[in-house]
Parts: sequence; C-alpha cells; structure tokens
Amino acid sequence: MNAKRPTQQSYDVIIIGGAIMGASTAWFLSDNDDFDGSVLVVERDMSFASASTSHTNSCMRQQFSTELNVKISQFAADFVKNMRSYMGEDDRIPDLKIQSFGYMYLADNEDFARVLRENQKVQVSAGAATQLMTPEQIQAAYPFYNVDDILLGSINLVDEGYWDGATVNDWWRRQSRERGVEWIENEVIAINRNAADTQVESVTLASGEVIACGQVVNASGPRAARTAQMAGIDVPVEPRKRYTWVFKAEQPLDRELPLTIDPAGVHVREHGGGTYQCGGHSDVDPAVGFEDHTMDHALWESHIWPTLATRIPQFEAIKVQSEWAGHYSMNTFDHNAIMGPHTALSNFIFLNGFSGHGLQQSPAMGRGTAEWLTYGEYRSLDLTPFSYKRIEDNRPIIEKAVI
Ligand SMILES: Cc1cc2nc3c(=O)[nH]c(=O)nc-3n(C[C@H](O)[C@H](O)[C@H](O)COP(=O)(O)OP(=O)(O)OC[C@H]3O[C@@H](n4cnc5c(N)ncnc54)[C@H](O)[C@@H]3O)c2cc1C
Repeated sequence: MNAKRPTQQSYDVIIIGGAIMGASTAWFLSDNDDFDGSVLVVERDMSFASASTSHTNSCMRQQFSTELNVKISQFAADFVKNMRSYMGEDDRIPDLKIQSFGYMYLADNEDFARVLRENQKVQVSAGAATQLMTPEQIQAAYPFYNVDDILLGSINLVDEGYWDGATVNDWWRRQSRERGVEWIENEVIAINRNAADTQVESVTLASGEVIACGQVVNASGPRAARTAQMAGIDVPVEPRKRYTWVFKAEQPLDRELPLTIDPAGVHVREHGGGTYQCGGHSDVDPAVGFEDHTMDHALWESHIWPTLATRIPQFEAIKVQSEWAGHYSMNTFDHNAIMGPHTALSNFIFLNGFSGHGLQQSPAMGRGTAEWLTYGEYRSLDLTPFSYKRIEDNRPIIEKAVI
C-alpha cells in the first residue's frame, strides 16, 4: 500500500514526479553525506501508467553531437555496470550489463553523411568508440541490410545498446525510501509563491494539504509545462506520441541487429529470441493529451513495415507480438534537457524536456540536480549549458543526433 499523505508539514525538497528522474534525484540526495535535509516525492500514479518511463525502449548511446551529451551517457554506462558499487555494495542489487549491439546510423545523402562525420570527431574526442563504415563494410559485417541507397554508416559497439532501466529505477526508489526519503501517491495541484513573489513557498496536494518546501523539483515528464504553469512559469515541453512494436521474424537474422536508425525515420533493434523491437512516429506530430495512448495501426501498414522490409528484406515476413504508444516530453525549443533553477523563482528547479533520451540521462541528471539542491552548483559534470536561461536568451543547444 502506498502512503497517500505526507507525515510532515514542511520539507527541504519536494520532488513532483516519482518516475526515473524523480527517483534518481531522490536517491542521489539520499546518497550525499553533505545533504541532511528532508525529501518528499509526490507521485500522482504509482502504477506509472502514463509515465514515459513505463513506455521506454531503454537504450543508451554515445552517438550525440555535443560532448556534454556524450559524457552524460558515459556516466550512465559506468553507473549501470557498477551499480552495486555505487549503491553501497548492497548485495541485493543485481549485476547489470549493457547489451552493446550499438546504434547504426545510416546516411542516404551527403548532408547527413557530413553530420555523421562531424559527430564522430566530437564523439571520439570525448572518448567514444564510434566508427564510420562504408556501405561495403556495412554489407560485410551485416549482410542482411539492403545498402543500395546508403552512403555512410556510423556505429559504436562499446557501452551503446540496451540496459535494464526498470531495475535501476526500482532500486533508486527502494534504497532512497530505506534511507528516509518519503514517497507518497498524491498529486500536486498548485504551487504557491511567497508574498514577495520571489520564491516557491509551498505546494498544494490533491488531498488538500498545503506543504511548505525549501526547494521544489519539476520532474513531471510530459506534464512538465502543466506543473511549471502552476508556478506561473512557461516551459516549452509537450507530450509527443512515439510508437513501439515488438515483432517476430519468420526467418530470424543470423547475427545481432544493431539499433538501426533508418533514414526514413524508423528504428529497429534486437529484442531477443528471434524477436525485434522497432519504433517511429507519424509525420504529423502534434502535442497529445496526457492520457492519449491510442495506437496508429495505419502507420505500421503504410510506413513502418514497408521501411523495415526495404532495409532488411528478411523482415518482409514478420508478425507483430505487442505494441504500445508512449510520450516523449519533447523540448520544442532545442530537444535537449532543461535543468536547474528558474531565473526569477530560484527555488523552482527544472528537470525536464528530455525528448527521447531521458532514460540514459537519468543517472547524470539526477546526480547533477542533487548537487544543485545541496550546493547551489554542479560539481561532477557542469550541466549549466542546459539552464532555463538559454531559453530566455534564445541560445539553443543544437543536438544533431535526435531519434
Ligand atoms: C517510446 C519511448 C521510447 C524511449 N526510448 C528511450 C531510450 O531508448 N533511451 C532513453 O534514454 N530514453 C528513452 N525514452 C525517453 C525516456 O523514457 C524518458 O525521457 C524518461 O523516462 C523520462 O522520465 P521522467 O521521470 O522525466 O518522466 P516520466 O517517466 O513521464 O515521469 C513523470 C512522472 O511525474 C508524475 N507527475 C506529473 N505531474 C505530477 C503532479 N502534478 N503531481 C505528482 N506527480 C506528477 C507522472 O505521473 C509521472 O509518473 C523513450 C520514451 C518513449 C516514450
């Protein structure tokens, strides 16, 4: 049974949203000896039915176009591989691995081939093992692809692939609870400013209580803009639908399939046991309702399946086994994270806008947010480029490798 009501009238930190970003922040706070405050995590639905975290594909990559995004994913890889050691050598914690099948980006035009070449330089200088591949090299290593239209590929087979985000998330939640973080199933319905209008003073819960807070963290995923609005703040984050299908191939591939990003906007990867997982979205990509998870079956027939069968002819004969629609919390400004304090309301902390790469960013972003809450600065990795101020200043961080 989840607790519904807080035990105190006031907390040093209130985290709004208890999926992976809220859990990571709560855990890193609980792990920091310099932080001795009280923490309340408020989660509106402990079944996490509409959370992005429940619909994720749970992959990580180092193929980003900015060094900071590469380093954020490298910390994720290190955390996942050494989770037990990070979490106090707790012997209940399982050994996790990354299935490093790599992401295979395919370019079918010179402009995108140039982007891949430029990105590879950034990635390699940040310590990633990205290799460029000619169509002939791709064909030799992965004979199942049709590369007739392909000019260049880019792949990294080190710490890039699938990881078990759900287990990391569960352990963050569980261990943070054991260390005194309070978790309740309730909803923040209002955020109240002080009389001078300079700080958040308290939040109002759906159950009626008004709970005072020192700092408040917006970890509410696709609902980020709604939560920010409660404090009178605008943040450019929208729920955008992303579809996933798991299918069985009549003739499974004879080797591991990298997470292949087809130029037609479809991605597909190994799922195990002769099954594969693929995803995509419609060209018309509006903001959707928070509870809208209806599938687009026409998209499968008209675009996803034909794209798969063109790229990998063996995927002409496949059968869908399961499917779901989830929401990216899309940062419509520049598709990157929005982190740290609001410029005027300095105890309102953003943790939003992860635009499809938030699962792998959760270790670094939770650690960074916990540092900000404790010290008022980032200590491990400087995350200030992701500040809300860049939006006010109209300085987008252009990430050229978005899926
Ligand atoms: C189909 C799909 C595939 C993806 N694949 C990948 C991938 O391969 N790799 C990767 O890195 N990322 C991936 N992502 C993105 C990743 O899943 C998300 O970035 C990440 O899960 C975001 O976590 P979050 O905690 O910010 O948001 P969420 O998981 O959405 O959690 C937000 C929580 O806040 C709660 N909440 C909201 N408002 C309130 C309120 N007022 N009061 C209380 N609680 C509230 C919600 O109930 C929810 O549980 C994918 C996403 C989707 C949809």
